[in-house]
Amino acid sequence: MKKEANGRYEKILELATRKSIFYPSAEVYPNSPSGFWDFGPVGQAIRRKIVGFWRHELVYREDMMEIHGAQILPASVFEGSGHLKSFADPIVQCTKCKKYERADRLISEKINENVPESLAIEKLDEMIKKHKVRCPKCEGELGKVSKFNMMVETIIGRGETKTFLRPEACQSIFLNFPRMVKTMRLKLPCGIAQEGGAFRNEISPRQSITRAIEFSQMEAEVFFDPEKINEIEGFDEVKNYKIRILRLGKDKLEEISADKLVKEGIVPGKLIAYYLARTQQVWNRMGIPLEKLRFREVGKDERAFYSLATFDFEVETSLGWLELIANNYRTDYDLKKHGEHSGADMSYVDEDGKKIIPHIWEISAGVDRTLFAILDCCLKEGKEGLYFSLKPIIAPYHCAVFPLVKKDGMPEFAKKVEKILKDGWFDMIYDESGSIGRRYARADEIGVPFCLTIDGDSLKNEDVTIRERDSGKQVRVKVSELRHVLRDLVTHDMDFGKISKKE
Ligand code: ATP
Repeated sequence: MKKEANGRYEKILELATRKSIFYPSAEVYPNSPSGFWDFGPVGQAIRRKIVGFWRHELVYREDMMEIHGAQILPASVFEGSGHLKSFADPIVQCTKCKKYERADRLISEKINENVPESLAIEKLDEMIKKHKVRCPKCEGELGKVSKFNMMVETIIGRGETKTFLRPEACQSIFLNFPRMVKTMRLKLPCGIAQEGGAFRNEISPRQSITRAIEFSQMEAEVFFDPEKINEIEGFDEVKNYKIRILRLGKDKLEEISADKLVKEGIVPGKLIAYYLARTQQVWNRMGIPLEKLRFREVGKDERAFYSLATFDFEVETSLGWLELIANNYRTDYDLKKHGEHSGADMSYVDEDGKKIIPHIWEISAGVDRTLFAILDCCLKEGKEGLYFSLKPIIAPYHCAVFPLVKKDGMPEFAKKVEKILKDGWFDMIYDESGSIGRRYARADEIGVPFCLTIDGDSLKNEDVTIRERDSGKQVRVKVSELRHVLRDLVTHDMDFGKISKKE
């Protein structure tokens, strides 16, 4: 990943820290380890919106089951999954300053090309030598590459049972599968989803929330019968939808319909094309413009050994192309392995009595990277400075409510409006301090899409002025219609111009 010369990344960090969107954890203590981040009221509000949108658009719409699994799991789970043996990154130490770094990343940055982390360590050593890769901190010479296991161990009780923090949320989903079959009448194809924490001992956490030790994932694992990979309800709705894809070995992005992806054998079946289309639609609606997103087809050398097909969903940010979602065809690997190690029956019997171990299509998205990518795509420069032009559905608050001045009954009227909106389940900030221009600017900075101002006429006419953040356009709306109008603007992303025409 490369930093953009114009300092866009630094601007995002500055605004994020100043507005307490995200900032280093335990910052009041010196020497707090890097790789941990806190999210203030604004950041947490945006995260909630991202997760809520994912839940609504993917989990609910696709009739998935959502669970919440424990984050600490016994070592036996990770023996089964193979993490204890093979979840390791190639690392290298500087012989001068003694700092450790990811070997694959240092080489990637030097040669400006993606170097698979799965390359043999001897090969990485060779590349370091060939390309004269040095320590990014002190230019010192690098030592030999070695493997470093990324599992974070925890101690529970007196330590009798070895336990780890989960490195990916999906393991709980696999472990829950047989229970869902028995108790929730799960019928294939069916997704089980989960949002929650994941922990990886990243040797050089950096680029803020995009590579942290503790982070959150929104995972959806779709279980299906591989013989029925082409039987997916809803495919016709997306069959002509164009998916932006960078094919293996090509350097030009192509836009290929879901139907064509299947017909040309680019993906293993309709179910996969369907979920690639739905994933693109959901992240696009969250605020990632189409021209900044792509699915990158990942080759055999780079993808996990158990994956039959991998398409990383990436977004072009100030850090370069950033992977937000791993889309993997995990086959029956996980259920089989957990079945073998635990002795549990992980099979599924369909309505015809056929017993199978289902295959899995995984959509593993990072909450924090999604937040970062949205902020990056939405950062704009206005007359009053930088602001985040967030989609109303993702913005931390739907609106801000301002009495024009602190007298003549305006604050009381504004409070009445605030209550009406809160009763209608809208989120908002109320602000009566400073000039109205300053208040607009403060709301804009954190991405609030609409400001509602109450002036002298509002009291007479029972109305408010709505100002749209991006255009600065204003329109008066009756208080009695406010909830309805805001619902259209926020939930249906209605064009602001249509409201003024209605007037
Ligand atoms: P990378 O190659 O960038 O390290 P990965 O391929 O190891 O990522 P996955 O294991 O596929 O990542 O995890 C799925 C998603 O979880 C990623 O696409 C990303 O959004 C998120 N994620 C993974 N590691 C981190 C991290 N250290 N910090 C923040 N988010 C992460």
